[in-house]
Amino acid sequence: MKILFYGAEGKVGTAMVPRLLGAGHEVTPVCSGKEVRRDGHDVAIDFTQPAAVRKNVEGCLQAGIPCVVGTTGMGPADLASWDELARRRDIACFVAPNFAVGAVLMMRFAAEAARYFPRAEIVELHHETKVDAPSGTAKATADAMPGDVSIHSVRLPGLVAHQEVLLGGDGQLLTIRHDTLSREAFAPGVLLALEKLSSLPTGVTVGLETLLE
Ligand code: NAP
Repeated sequence: MKILFYGAEGKVGTAMVPRLLGAGHEVTPVCSGKEVRRDGHDVAIDFTQPAAVRKNVEGCLQAGIPCVVGTTGMGPADLASWDELARRRDIACFVAPNFAVGAVLMMRFAAEAARYFPRAEIVELHHETKVDAPSGTAKATADAMPGDVSIHSVRLPGLVAHQEVLLGGDGQLLTIRHDTLSREAFAPGVLLALEKLSSLPTGVTVGLETLLE
């Protein structure tokens, strides 16, 4: 596929672009403040920042280019607006707060375990330059669990992306933990999204779990 990659010079972008090229895709890197010609591209991928992603995705959807969005920090209003734009052009827009398969399984296991424990809290830990808090993954995990689940955010140098779901009951504690040790972890999920994009329904689809068998 011919891919427009917004955020190609970022931490995720620099790990992702070689993997896309290695899988046989063509990549046009788009960096901060640079204008590029969108025509001729099959898909746009965005790993930028909450302040940049709206304009990038809206522009691509309006131009009829399907999108795969990894940037976090958007709200339901953004997704509703992208859904409308994508439906108008009869194309798909895939959004995932976490492209690491292990993190998606952590969310699934946490939702299952929450049925058997009265209380749960989430601790999400990320590198110090992550601008949004709580993380999109922590919010999605909490949304999939019953009751009020508090989220604690830690931002420190040395971290990549980590999350613990702590479930407490009488005399016992269950901890479900996922660690992203390098940004290579997101590549298989993004490649899967590209593979499935043409078979997705028109409009916005959220979550890597929707693509897993
Ligand atoms: P990062 O290192 O800050 O990279 C973001 C890059 O986007 C920077 O190079 C930035 O350039 C560039 N950029 C900013 N505005 C742009 C624009 N309008 N057009 C093109 N490029 C632009 O951040 P990151 O760690 O790679 O993470 C990127 C995003 O992905 C964050 O929202 C993060 O939370 C999210 N993320 C999602 C997943 C997932 O699995 N869904 C995984 C990891 C991270 P400048 O520095 O010059 O502004």
